[in-house]
Amino acid sequence: MKLLQLLPIGNVDAGLIVDMCPAIEAILGVPCNVLPDRLDPEFAFHRERQQYHSSEILKRMQSRITADTWRMLGIAAVDLYVPILTFVFGEAQMSGPCAVLSSHRLRQEFYGLPCDLELFRHRMIKEAIHELGHTLNLRHCDDYRCVMASSHAVERIDLKGSALCESCRAALMPSMKVGVAQNW
Ligand SMILES: [Zn+2]
Ligand SMILES: [Zn+2]
Repeated sequence: MKLLQLLPIGNVDAGLIVDMCPAIEAILGVPCNVLPDRLDPEFAFHRERQQYHSSEILKRMQSRITADTWRMLGIAAVDLYVPILTFVFGEAQMSGPCAVLSSHRLRQEFYGLPCDLELFRHRMIKEAIHELGHTLNLRHCDDYRCVMASSHAVERIDLKGSALCESCRAALMPSMKVGVAQNW
């Protein structure tokens, strides 16, 4: 059976990524593992922005796809961007196979607030499911409670759940539903 592979990027905490697996498996219904190697993101660093270009990371990740890969989700701790935006929480290839997210702006500490690990973990899971939803050809959803709602601020991530709404679930292409659990 094909796997959802989580790829640590840079010096992201490996324990954090291992902790995400059970929740992602439960929501998507696909087996998930953490790849043993890391991707060094320095090639995607742009000095003028002091940020990492997420599209370049996605392109590099593609060379690591194997026959075992269902989807590959890169998890970074560095600040990501695409040229038209000041930052992105993550980016995905529509219809797969690669997606990437960053923990950088999901921590309360980034906003000068006290650490809240529980909230941080919820944000990581929602962002992971959201980006993987794009790899399953889902676009942004108007329902603010749906995991596919667009979020340009963490407050919006906190408002939504980690599940797909009825219409997003219905929009999943039949071939994509393989391995997708009922609780989506
Ligand atoms: Zn999105
Ligand atoms: Zn939806």
